[in-house]
Amino acid sequence: MDAYRRHQQYMRDYAQYFGGPSPPPTAPPSATQTEHDLVRQHHQFLRDPNADALIATLDGNGRWAAQLAKAYYDRLFKEYCLGDLSRYKTGKVALRWRTHREVVAGKGQWECGNLACSERSGLKSWEVLFGYVEQGEKKSALVKLRLCPNCTRKLHYKKDKERRRQRRERTQDAGDDEGESATRPNEDRVTIAITSPIPISEPYTRV
Ligand SMILES: [Zn+2]
Repeated sequence: MDAYRRHQQYMRDYAQYFGGPSPPPTAPPSATQTEHDLVRQHHQFLRDPNADALIATLDGNGRWAAQLAKAYYDRLFKEYCLGDLSRYKTGKVALRWRTHREVVAGKGQWECGNLACSERSGLKSWEVLFGYVEQGEKKSALVKLRLCPNCTRKLHYKKDKERRRQRRERTQDAGDDEGESATRPNEDRVTIAITSPIPISEPYTRV
């Protein structure tokens, strides 16, 4: 079974034992709910002790499948985030956790993590420091933002531009900085420092 099929299988098991794939399992979303409300509701769901109580009631096979699916789901939820890159030219990116629906659909894992993009090929994981507020407490975590090549370019736009400018200043006589991309480290993961933890409701921060 390949990784994507395994993902689908775990999500089916998860839905079977803990609720349908969408909308979030604790309660149907109302028209007045914001995305922030959905994410917060999801946080509460993950901490729901009823999930453990439910697992305890299952027989051997069911318990095993439910535990596997839940462990996979919980790990996924904290592993990937999504980004709003619409202000990339100013070097700002807004990060947030995924909703239940997005985890199940694989948005940000099998599909580009830029909210405005649905590309599924050529994805790369970038490690980002994500500041957020959980139950009134500021926290930060290193999470993955998985992006297609075009959105990766946006993520690094400001820094690349700055690098090009510095290079131009250093080698004014060369007049051409197109060799820049060849010198970029060929790594899958980099750390992008976000200056301070930020709440989800005030999403924009400088990278
Ligand atoms: Zn993209």
